[in-house]
Amino acid sequence: MDFSLGERERDLVGLCRDFAQAEIAARAPRAWDEGRCPTDLLREMGGLGLLGVLIPEEWGGIGMSTVGFVAAMEQIGLADQSVAAAWQAHVTIGSLPLYLFGTDAQRERWLRPLAEGRALGAFGLTEPDAGSDARGIRTRAERRDGGWLINGRKTFISNAGTDMSFGVTLLARTDQADGSTPGYGSFVVEKDTEGFTMGPKMRGIGWRGLDTRELYFDDVWVPDDQLVGDAGMGLSQFLRTLEVGRISIAALSLSLTQAVLDLATDYAKQREQFGQPISKFQAVQFKLADIATELEAARWLTYRAAYLRDSGQAFQKEAAMAKLKASRVAAWAASEAVQIHGGLGYMLDTPVARFYCDSKVLEIGEGTNEIQHLVIARALGC
Ligand SMILES: Cc1cc2nc3c(=O)[nH]c(=O)nc-3n(C[C@H](O)[C@H](O)[C@H](O)COP(=O)(O)OP(=O)(O)OC[C@H]3O[C@@H](n4cnc5c(N)ncnc54)[C@H](O)[C@@H]3O)c2cc1C
Repeated sequence: MDFSLGERERDLVGLCRDFAQAEIAARAPRAWDEGRCPTDLLREMGGLGLLGVLIPEEWGGIGMSTVGFVAAMEQIGLADQSVAAAWQAHVTIGSLPLYLFGTDAQRERWLRPLAEGRALGAFGLTEPDAGSDARGIRTRAERRDGGWLINGRKTFISNAGTDMSFGVTLLARTDQADGSTPGYGSFVVEKDTEGFTMGPKMRGIGWRGLDTRELYFDDVWVPDDQLVGDAGMGLSQFLRTLEVGRISIAALSLSLTQAVLDLATDYAKQREQFGQPISKFQAVQFKLADIATELEAARWLTYRAAYLRDSGQAFQKEAAMAKLKASRVAAWAASEAVQIHGGLGYMLDTPVARFYCDSKVLEIGEGTNEIQHLVIARALGC
């Protein structure tokens, strides 16, 4: 296996490093404090081609490999996790259903603006009564007047309510009373559609710059050409999309772990107690050495999952393993890094405290870690 980056990927990493250090690190913490999604930064990332990172040039993107995207994410997430979270949600679950399953007309109409960075994409799966159990959704699309009438409610949906949002690609039941259409369908609902409303931005422990909301659909009518893929195939489309999302959450976790490792190492070298830097105490050194080692293990799992996807091989099990391992490492490492900072690490003005707050959701989003266990166990034949 060769995970070394090609020239295009190295250029992308350099671009992301420069932008992350110069702009994101300087401006995003304020948005985090204010609980505001910094769409100004996301627009600028769009101008750099980053919002279409995984979409081919033919549809307005830059056609980067998954390995290149992971490497780029390591730079963006190092500077701020909310911006990185909004970016990854847009790039994977927000855009891929249209790219992978849409018609050319749908790609032209909705994917191109997303890939060119003119709009932000959202993915509507979770509902108040259906999270891990995606089959249990209640949002329903009924055949009506040559189109579909959608009724239901989604929750925790990212990127749907910003001034850059285009609407949402959602999953709805399409099984009809007369048995004519089976299963689930995926539909695009644009933001100004009659009957489509949303709640206020939700307040999380972390990712405070990410726009996450409840969405309501009351007799929302959409024409047939807003059905993405076949009416019976929506669930499998959404689950396939989430597989890429898991690599992306793993990459986000790597960036968080690297960030807290850097912060804790720097702090340990300059904080003195008992007449010497605390980095001289083995108890502190071992924490840092453990974080560095676990990070490296998580990193190779993540790059391997990305490499498998790029080389057209099955990557479902590896993506679940990468997400499980990397998010666990991130949540544990953030806690250890706060410990190394002592009381200062508890204060929200410090970057390490913000990363700590941002770390928990990595074990929940895009399939909880318990669900990753189930995916892996199933791959083992259990
Ligand atoms: C900040 C944020 C952003 C999000 N963005 C989006 C988004 O853009 N789009 C979207 O559709 N969703 C989004 N989500 C939703 C997220 O994907 C769900 O929260 C997640 O899938 C878990 O679903 P749930 O919250 O309903 O928990 P539940 O499914 O109710 O799970 C509760 C607990 O039970 C456990 N559990 C459930 N089933 C099993 C089982 N079979 N075996 C063992 N344990 C089990 C879970 O692991 C968990 O610990 C977001 C969530 C957050 C917090």
